[in-house]
Amino acid sequence: MMKPRIGISACLLGRKVRHNGGDKRNDWLVDQLGRFVEWVPFCPELEMGLGVPRPTMRLKGKLKDPQLIVKGTEQNLTLLARSTAERLLSEDLKLDSFIFKKGSPSCGLEHVKIYGKNDSPSSSAIGFFAAAFKEKNPSLPVIEEGRLSDPRQRERYLVKLFAFVRLRRLPREVASLQNYHKNQRFILMAHAPGHCRRLGAIAANSENIGVNELFSNYQSLFLDVINTSPSCNHWINVLLHMLGFFKNEISGGEKQQILRTFDDYRCGALPLIAVMTLMHHLAEKYSNRYLLDQAVFEPYPKGLLVMDRN
Ligand code: SF4
Repeated sequence: MMKPRIGISACLLGRKVRHNGGDKRNDWLVDQLGRFVEWVPFCPELEMGLGVPRPTMRLKGKLKDPQLIVKGTEQNLTLLARSTAERLLSEDLKLDSFIFKKGSPSCGLEHVKIYGKNDSPSSSAIGFFAAAFKEKNPSLPVIEEGRLSDPRQRERYLVKLFAFVRLRRLPREVASLQNYHKNQRFILMAHAPGHCRRLGAIAANSENIGVNELFSNYQSLFLDVINTSPSCNHWINVLLHMLGFFKNEISGGEKQQILRTFDDYRCGALPLIAVMTLMHHLAEKYSNRYLLDQAVFEPYPKGLLVMDRN
């Protein structure tokens, strides 16, 4: 598969583009995810022609219409920020996702402080560049780097990103979409079982609609599904469903042992990956091709470490 092309706030890659000449290098992004994706770095404030070092900026004013102001002055850079974002996003950059620096009045995706009249934070909003990006690309998976410090959110983002990229890179053929849906089935079931069935009906294409319309219908519902957080109960249902494939192969005692690991996952004593590894082992032992082809066993590239080493 071609590497995902991910836009990123340049300071997260260690580029010295911050107002004070520093960076905000994120080791996991650079050392782990960076091995499996193509970065497309942006520093919107540098692109505004403000140089390094430059004065600090803040969002100021009302929640509905915050302005980008140079800290400690009345200098208003809102129009410059808007026109710069428009210029940067005017061409099709063929991005699959964007990772934003948190808290920045330009790059922050959420909870960027808006300062009121007495110079204290009164509310929060999205940064100028992040807002323009989202408006132009409403369906792309995006995230703030701060959320990626939580391994669960990191994993969720990776599952979403690689499932989305696999779908985007599919040859525009009905058979490829049907095969894709078959292999993503357990991931989709864990996110939204009802919608998973609807996606299956779309992929089946019983009305024989044109391939472009078919892909567009599938992708739009797919994004709704993949943006829904999977629940523990949904994962348990997926695991039980998988276990059903071995009802003629395993003994009653083995089944009870496996069900106990599901309970351990349910109460938080075991991570999902441990139970999935057990199911993968069963699929290999009994050469179950349907299960072995499921993306749930390798939702993102092997070798990409989700947990920090220390
Ligand atoms: S947060 Fe955005 S604008 Fe600020 S230094 Fe990083 S890339 Fe540049």
